[in-house]
Amino acid sequence: MKVQFLDKLRVDFPELKFILGKKFAFRPPKTVVVGPEEANDSLLLMHELGHALCHHRNFGTDAERIKMEREAWEKARELCVAYEVSYDEETVEAELDTYRDWLDKKSRCPDCGLTRFQAPDGTYHCPQCENFL
Ligand SMILES: [Zn+2]
Ligand SMILES: [Zn+2]
Repeated sequence: MKVQFLDKLRVDFPELKFILGKKFAFRPPKTVVVGPEEANDSLLLMHELGHALCHHRNFGTDAERIKMEREAWEKARELCVAYEVSYDEETVEAELDTYRDWLDKKSRCPDCGLTRFQAPDGTYHCPQCENFL
C-alpha cells in the first residue's frame, strides 16, 4: 500500500486514528490498525475502515458479529469505488467464510452435534440436550 493512500485517509477521516500493526483490525471506537503489506491490503483496510464508519462498538453475540462483518464489507464496497480500490468478491467471501466456519464450530453441541443457539448473554444452549424440542 502506498504511503500517500494512508495519508489521504488520514486527511479524509481526521476523527479516526490509523496506526501500524501486525494485522488489519478495527479497535473501537476510533482506531484502525493497518497491517503489513500484502496483495489485498488496500481492500482489507477498506473493510476495517468500514467497521469504523458503521460505528461498530462491541460484537455482542456471534450472530451479530457476522452481521457486522457483512456490514463492514458492504461499506468497504462503497469505499472501494470512492478510492479506486478493486473489490475482490472472492477475497470477501473467503474472509466471511472464516467467520462462518468459526461460528459453525463454536455453535455445535459437543454432546449431540446439533447447532446450538446463543443467548444475548453469550452463552450457548442446545435445544436437544436442554429439552427445548
Ligand atoms: Zn471485520
Ligand atoms: Zn446437544
